[in-house]
Amino acid sequence: MAMDTLVCNLQERKQMLRMMADTEVAKALLSVIERVNVATKARSPEIAALCRQPRLVAVSKTKPKDMIIEAYSAGQRHFGENYVQELVEKGHDEEIIEKCPEIKWHMIGHLQSNKVNKVIGIPNLDCVETVDTAKLATTLNNAVQKRGLDKKLKVFVQVNTSGEERKKSGVHPDNVNELVGHVTKNCPHLTLLGLMTIGAFDHDLSQGPNPDFQTLLKTRAAVCETQCIEPQDVELSMGMSNDFEHAILIGSTNVRVGSTIFGARNYKK
Ligand SMILES: *Cc1c(COP(=O)(O)O)cnc(C)c1O
Repeated sequence: MAMDTLVCNLQERKQMLRMMADTEVAKALLSVIERVNVATKARSPEIAALCRQPRLVAVSKTKPKDMIIEAYSAGQRHFGENYVQELVEKGHDEEIIEKCPEIKWHMIGHLQSNKVNKVIGIPNLDCVETVDTAKLATTLNNAVQKRGLDKKLKVFVQVNTSGEERKKSGVHPDNVNELVGHVTKNCPHLTLLGLMTIGAFDHDLSQGPNPDFQTLLKTRAAVCETQCIEPQDVELSMGMSNDFEHAILIGSTNVRVGSTIFGARNYKK
């Protein structure tokens, strides 16, 4: 009888898996996961020794909650949003909380200090990837302390690797060292995961490695040297839909992929 139950469960499981992979989102997700795995295996031994298996953050901005639930049902756990209001709505959504109890939200957009309390109030907030000033770090640290959950908040320091004025988010590479020092020494309620960059998304890879990613690697090397931290202990969040494999090959440990999983975004005019 135990045998019958097993067969039955296996068949049910197979059918469930087929059904899951039937949705467009699940299919696209599984294909991205496969590409992440292939790129991870293709890393050189030197780079592989420095970095963990990359974390895939599914960027669901502008996308409906049904798609989030579909991706979650297909096994995805980390999700990224970059507008505070949208993150707050999805983070408090009762259906998402019920159907996705282990969801881990990443804030990947610009965050102003006066919006920190809203973001910290999200039950399944896992990580803020966009810490770019000491003031924001301090505000987050104090808000986490006040929340009193005895659980640290993971953060990345966002680096403006392009030095372009119009992309104002991110700390200049020359000032990363100071901000990292502030987070690690003065913010006991934050855990620094590493450094993050958005970088140019229109870089032509046939012209060589993405210079923004190279800058992030150099910045990490400099910070690790001055602060005596091991590079293995400083993650890199870089790589999006059109360059995540390249990013993984050169050392990314956190890729943020949106449109390849959920389809192109439609912005209301
Ligand atoms: C939108 C967004 C992404 C995902 O972009 P895709 O090209 O759709 O994969 C990643 N990171 C950040 C910070 C974003 O705003």
